[in-house]
Amino acid sequence: MNIKTTMRFPTKNILSAIGFRSSVLTADSRKPIAALAFSCLFSTMLVMPSQVSAQTKMTPAKIDALKTELTKEIDKQQKFTQEMVDMVFSFGELGFQEVETSKYLTDILQKNGFVIEQGISGVPTAWTAKWGSGKPIIAVGSDIDCIPKASQKPGVSYHDPIIEGAPGHGEGHNSGQPLNITAVLALKKIMEREKIPGTIMLWPGVAEEQLGTKAYYVRDGYFKDVDACIFTHVANNMSVSYGDAGNNGMVSALFSFEGQASHAGAAPWRGKSALDAVELTNIAWNYHREHMETTQRSHYVIKDGGDQPNVVPSKASVWYYFRERTYPKIMQMYKDGIKIAEGAAQMTDTKMTYEVLGSAWPGHFNQPMAEAMYENIKAVGLPKWTEADQTLAKAAQKEMGNPEGATVESNGLATTLSPLAKPTATSSSGGGGSDDIADISWNLPTIVLRYPANIPGLPGHHWANAIAMATPIAHKGVTAGAKVEAMTLLDLFVKPEVIKNAKAYFTDVQTKDVKYTPIISKTDKPAIHLNEKIMQEFRPEMKKYYYDPAKYPTYLEQLGIKYPTLRDTKTEGTGK
Ligand SMILES: [Zn+2]
Repeated sequence: MNIKTTMRFPTKNILSAIGFRSSVLTADSRKPIAALAFSCLFSTMLVMPSQVSAQTKMTPAKIDALKTELTKEIDKQQKFTQEMVDMVFSFGELGFQEVETSKYLTDILQKNGFVIEQGISGVPTAWTAKWGSGKPIIAVGSDIDCIPKASQKPGVSYHDPIIEGAPGHGEGHNSGQPLNITAVLALKKIMEREKIPGTIMLWPGVAEEQLGTKAYYVRDGYFKDVDACIFTHVANNMSVSYGDAGNNGMVSALFSFEGQASHAGAAPWRGKSALDAVELTNIAWNYHREHMETTQRSHYVIKDGGDQPNVVPSKASVWYYFRERTYPKIMQMYKDGIKIAEGAAQMTDTKMTYEVLGSAWPGHFNQPMAEAMYENIKAVGLPKWTEADQTLAKAAQKEMGNPEGATVESNGLATTLSPLAKPTATSSSGGGGSDDIADISWNLPTIVLRYPANIPGLPGHHWANAIAMATPIAHKGVTAGAKVEAMTLLDLFVKPEVIKNAKAYFTDVQTKDVKYTPIISKTDKPAIHLNEKIMQEFRPEMKKYYYDPAKYPTYLEQLGIKYPTLRDTKTEGTGK
């Protein structure tokens, strides 16, 4: 689909912009940033002892008793958790357009005594929800956006969209905030009763698929007083990692060209084709690929390729993701991209402008926090899957022709816990995807809880990854994850040494040699116009399928889906 994008940002002076970007890379210009980072860390260290001493201390036996109580409370809340998972699944909103999702989640939090700040960083669907008082302040986050064209009926093992072509939760971002809310509400009861001091701040990853907001939250100071952050992300096992996550950071940039229209049949010589510039950019980039390191990932879509063949396109644009393993390499790719687009503009006598639509650093996560969480993972373990859960998982894996073949990956749902994931050496990593949680992890101690709410071995960013996401697989995975998160939050609030060690790791290990430099500038703005038109097109029809928990116990029942629904064996495996 060819979607036209309206430029919302002022035209930049290309040469000065390149100059600015390259200056970011020089050693000299980094000094003030490094000095600032150091002074921030130093001031954090100065105030730390009093904060730590203010934390509640408890005996190990008492903590264990409270953890048992948390898991019982979370088990009692399974119906509530299921409703939240199903509800957000049914909204299926793309990045920056998570209007219903954010309203629904903040309403629940507000009713439970959280103070909501809406529209943070100028993003209408972004918010913080705070409860409690004083230190420590622990942030709890998860993404809420979905995937284009990933509409899919839950519980059905083959492609069967709720609405053809509509967005859907083809990654599983409908499950993370329900997990967080379940966990913090259970914990809140205990903190109130036991008079445990501290503040919880929930926040959403808006437009994670566009790497669209987290660097802005950091830049705009929403995390400046926060002591630690737990992030949750859907997965197919229960795990946590520390150190270099082995993934790539990235810049997302839109290159727009402006030429001159003309009658493509009668007077093509009077036209200057912006589409030619887009195509030449892509050709040059694809030649350039041969000379890039093997860790890079770069990909693009043409957002605007013109209107119709008999009009020479006066406007065209191409949207790139440039991914690499380290900040300097990411910025080098971005510079190369700008240079190539500029060359294409010269060749076609068109004008080129560009803008950052998103960014992310490569991930690095906190060791003491991960180790504390892994103890809780071992205590909670994996959910008990039923025959129906396993049947659905195996059918979906067979449907997608899992490239791993007949391995564990294509053999149903996870039944053995992942080990605590160790750091990946920069030299041994093959690169990969990105998540802007890294921008938070480079500013304060952060870990990511990956919880088992999805089916192993699926392609990711695909309708198949939505199959499990409003079924008992997701419901049980979220309940198990909520237990781990609540227990780990309790550790952070009542074991002062965990935060103390987390801060020491952050200062003495993680940021000892590598200092965070934002990829976005002080004046870049979140690209909140993204996905607006797609949601305008599909929302009226999607509204008819919003989950109504007052009428139906589950979303499966509302849609009239038998769990699991399997393909007629005669046509099996043809739905890819
Ligand atoms: Zn994600």
